[in-house]
Amino acid sequence: MNERSEINLDPEDWDAFSQQAHEALDTAIDHMRTVADGPPWRPLPADARRDIEGPLPREEGDLGEVLARVKRSILPYPTGNAHPRFWGWVMGNGTPEGMLGDMLASAMNPHLAGYDQSASAVERRVIAWMAEVMGFPDTASGLLVSGGTMANLTGLAVARQAKTDFDLREQGLAGGPRLRVYGSVETHSWAEKCCDVLGLGRVAFRRVAADREGRVVPQAIRAAVAEDRRRGDLPICVIATAGTVDTGAIDDLDTLADLCRDEDLWLHVDGAFGALAALAPSLRHKLRGLERCDSVAFDLHKWGYLPYEVGCALVRDGEAHRSTFRTRASYLQPPGRGLQPDVLEFADLGVQLSRGFRALKVWISLETHGVDKIGRVIEQNVDQARVLAARIEAEGSLELLAPVPLNVVCFRYVEPGWPEERLESLNREILLALQEDGVAIPSSTVRDSRFALRVAITNHRTRYTDIDVLVDAVLDRGRRLATTL
Ligand SMILES: *Cc1c(COP(=O)(O)O)cnc(C)c1O
Repeated sequence: MNERSEINLDPEDWDAFSQQAHEALDTAIDHMRTVADGPPWRPLPADARRDIEGPLPREEGDLGEVLARVKRSILPYPTGNAHPRFWGWVMGNGTPEGMLGDMLASAMNPHLAGYDQSASAVERRVIAWMAEVMGFPDTASGLLVSGGTMANLTGLAVARQAKTDFDLREQGLAGGPRLRVYGSVETHSWAEKCCDVLGLGRVAFRRVAADREGRVVPQAIRAAVAEDRRRGDLPICVIATAGTVDTGAIDDLDTLADLCRDEDLWLHVDGAFGALAALAPSLRHKLRGLERCDSVAFDLHKWGYLPYEVGCALVRDGEAHRSTFRTRASYLQPPGRGLQPDVLEFADLGVQLSRGFRALKVWISLETHGVDKIGRVIEQNVDQARVLAARIEAEGSLELLAPVPLNVVCFRYVEPGWPEERLESLNREILLALQEDGVAIPSSTVRDSRFALRVAITNHRTRYTDIDVLVDAVLDRGRRLATTL
């Protein structure tokens, strides 16, 4: 008999692996436990970069040595969004149980196209919970995806399918009318990107005016729709935003729901971070009308505080959702028993076929904390934004540059008599100094042609004292830098 030499990728010594894995877990936990002790961000030093950028490894390496390099050269240099004073763009922190969810999901490694398995039941449950939070009916469908952009793409794809009466899936858009989608000047840039990807072209997306508070002007949408119809275009969808990136403004969803009903348009809500304000009783009223929209997209990796990547798309009309993504294979007679008793339910709701078990970290997080506590942390973030705005208004050298309806604050340092350009240079330098000195990470935007420091608080680790650290540092850097510019 021939001796076959068989190989696989499991450890030869599971006990030794277990010890190394426990050490790695301790490293991960220490990293999280002490995240506030270091700076939010520091650049990747040359020796760490060298540690990372080795040649293609041909030979086996030693796991212990590889993990030591991770600890030394990779873990200490993250984006910084886990830190209590990270408020740039809109990023979440991650949670310890979220980390466990990712680890356990990876250990199971199930395939989430569908199938009769525990993981499908978990994802179905998470979607049902989310539908309840957003005020959607039991018949709604939904899907966990990589993030807000993919969730928004999903909603817009269903809108495109539901509001066209030609065979778009088979024949495409060629020869049909030009489709039109509406949002405001405050709508996130995913809108053009997704119109492009869906074959509508970037021109399909019309940005209309927003009011002083950053909310879309519904009358401007009505006018644009009428104009486009006169021209022979086919309006299909309004994209409302619940929580604009720049200022956290929430469009008047109820009025937009009326408008979409009257005009036979799909109402999609981009609630990337803002929709989760639905978890907070004191904020829920700001989202009135959300329960009437046709689809909503939101991120659990932002204001759900979970580790990347996890976003969610919900569609009120489950059948419209399925008919957008169903493939031919789904029409084959399902056997009703066995591992695949039915159609591949999740693959039929989105672009992906092979899908991972993102639902586990969501399920663990919600079961552990309960949605009421998550809602209270969201409320705390909104209160911290209010406190920051109040301190800015109380400081003569600081100027608030936008209203603060939610958790985003735009402001700048001012020197009396300085022209706009000089103030912009000064505030750009303040922003970089805060990052490079390891103090805090705001980002920036432009409001009414004025360069603004922008603080978006979707951070469960932020404490009120961190707000003071920020204000004190801006005043300090502002004074010092003003003498050098
Ligand atoms: C973050 C964000 C997006 C994009 O979501 P990703 O998860 O980054 O893909 C879309 N819209 C708004 C309002 C956002 O804040």
